[in-house]
Amino acid sequence: MTDRIIQLLDLRTARLPVPDAVESATADGHVADRRGRPLRDLRISVTDRCNFRCTYCMPKEVFDRDYRFLPHAELLSFEEITRLARAFIANGVEKIRLTGGEPLLRKDLHKLIEMLSRLTTLQGQPLDLALTTNGSLLARKARDLAAAGLRRITVSLDGLDDTVFKRMNDVDFPVSDVLAGIDAAAEAGLGPVKINMVVKRGVNDHEVVAMARHFRGTGQIVRFIEFMDVGSSNGWRMDDVVPSAEIVQRLDRDVAPLVAIDPNYAGEVAERWRYRDGSGEVGVISSVTQAFCHSCTRARLSTEGMLYLCLFADSGYDLRRLLRGGAEAAGVDDAALAMAVAQIWSQRADRYSEVRSAATGPRPKVEMSYIGG
Ligand code: SAM
Ligand code: SF4
Ligand code: SF4
Repeated sequence: MTDRIIQLLDLRTARLPVPDAVESATADGHVADRRGRPLRDLRISVTDRCNFRCTYCMPKEVFDRDYRFLPHAELLSFEEITRLARAFIANGVEKIRLTGGEPLLRKDLHKLIEMLSRLTTLQGQPLDLALTTNGSLLARKARDLAAAGLRRITVSLDGLDDTVFKRMNDVDFPVSDVLAGIDAAAEAGLGPVKINMVVKRGVNDHEVVAMARHFRGTGQIVRFIEFMDVGSSNGWRMDDVVPSAEIVQRLDRDVAPLVAIDPNYAGEVAERWRYRDGSGEVGVISSVTQAFCHSCTRARLSTEGMLYLCLFADSGYDLRRLLRGGAEAAGVDDAALAMAVAQIWSQRADRYSEVRSAATGPRPKVEMSYIGG
């Protein structure tokens, strides 16, 4: 196990050089990657820490007392995050999602939200600013988050049965507190709240129908996510995956008849379904059985400023070094930062989920809790 931890820590420092030219652009003149995909979404991990130990994400045996989380000085400051966000917006980013680890553990997060909510897209529109949380601190914080300018929220909840949920979060956290958080978010104006359930066969798949029934008619939207082989520590096996098609069949049969609906925008990862009787919407995210790499417009910024171009990447680009400079040089200016982002994105060719069967194996990958989901 020690070797494994060292390997995980080493991965965080795998740095790639920033390329020195922009290779391609979209029709509107913005940067495109080598597969013609524009840069539209940025996920920012604001902490690598979490108060849960979900067995599929931060298993206790790896993320234990001896695990070395990032020291505070390594974290990007709110000012640095905001500067980097501007560099991404200059390249076409329209949506920013704060994640982690557990983002609500980051002190004064509402201050960062205030800073980001003042930014506008290249078209002069307000930024689509969202957050993904485990909901444990949400009942207390929802109002402040909304007041700071947060627009949307996604809450993860893997079951309604306390025994099942506690077994998955592995810290004995009760369902009722997460439900209270979801209610508080809706009351604060952050609805419709999206509720993400990672489905693992034989662990919580029997909770799928109960989850759908519970939220049907409430206005909130449950999304069922296929268990993914992110990171190197969750012991993923294809047998654990419940294909989305099977989930849709179960809901259609045991909850209420469903009909497919159009995506909200090009490249939306969730496939949307609505109940025929108008009682609401559900979604499925088929990251394993139906890869959506061809329309992947997401970049990921780690807590200490490494840029990753794919959830399954094994190395990233050190933007913090560009920001802060080093002993030999001062950090670069905003224009150079934006250019560096363009250069990096233009070289991207990742499509891990489309080639998963060949790529899955002992190959090391960064952990989800580190780069954010
Ligand atoms: N702590 C927050 C939370 O749980 O919502 C934010 C970070 S978490 C890494 C983001 C999302 O990734 C969560 O919805 C979580 O369920 C999902 N996730 C983590 N590991 C996963 C895996 N192996 N397969 C699929 N989804 C996963
Ligand atoms: Fe924490 Fe979210 Fe990972 Fe669960 S999924 S361990 S709540 S970061
Ligand atoms: Fe995007 Fe990588 Fe996921 Fe494909 S595997 S959708 S390229 S993050």
